[in-house]
Amino acid sequence: MRLLVPVKRVVDYNVKVRVKADGTGVETVNVKMSMNPFDEIAVEEAVRLKEKGIATEIIAVSAGPAVAQEQIRTALAMGADRGILVEHDGMLEPLAVAKILKAIIAKEAPDLVILGKQAIDDDMNATGQMLAALMGWPQGTFASKVEAVDGSLNITREVDGGLQKLALKLPAIITTDLRLNEPRYASLPNIMKARKKPIETVKPADLGVDPAPRLTVLKVEEPPNRQAGKKVGSVQELVEKLRNEAKVI
Ligand code: AMP
Repeated sequence: MRLLVPVKRVVDYNVKVRVKADGTGVETVNVKMSMNPFDEIAVEEAVRLKEKGIATEIIAVSAGPAVAQEQIRTALAMGADRGILVEHDGMLEPLAVAKILKAIIAKEAPDLVILGKQAIDDDMNATGQMLAALMGWPQGTFASKVEAVDGSLNITREVDGGLQKLALKLPAIITTDLRLNEPRYASLPNIMKARKKPIETVKPADLGVDPAPRLTVLKVEEPPNRQAGKKVGSVQELVEKLRNEAKVI
């Protein structure tokens, strides 16, 4: 089974995000960037499938600026076999990424694509679903468990009311939820080995994809500052405030 794992370069989850002074987006200059945490989970799951002898090859792909090579290298150090960088400076919307991934699927013929459920920068939660629609493939989104059984996959999904179990025929798309696994740290020897693994670089145009945005960001704003809390003297006062001030009961 060949696996494709898309990994996005995003602002590190420990960084306090700052909005650019002109309100056009989020500041990324001089900010620590990392692999999207849900994509680390996707790489980990792919590596586990390879360690179990189910997957034969893992291809990590990132669409973004040349420095997104760093995130591909991280995936290679965790255990992916080779990388593809789709180099593009500027905004890439989920539909553009899904079209890019579709073109890569046409070249690489993977049996399974494992994406993160969402990228933590713009929280779109759309690329996996759009890719499944473009390919006409079954999808198991928000997966918290993946089991390979006789050429198909049993997926447990985290849904509002509890857990949903699905059987997916391959080829298929999975998106990862937080509880699927705990990603490993790459060991130093594996980081060294990853330096020798190949990364191919292509442009969206080489894949026949026009990545021009279709959405216009009107404005990005910081959330309002949280108001200081108030101490109440009694349960009656709390109930009175919830009823008459907050108007939530
Ligand atoms: P989103 O739909 O933007 O929230 O992203 C969901 C998932 O799609 C991410 O966790 C990645 O697996 C994948 N993805 C989104 N954008 C990119 C990108 N530029 N390069 C590689 N993978 C991406």
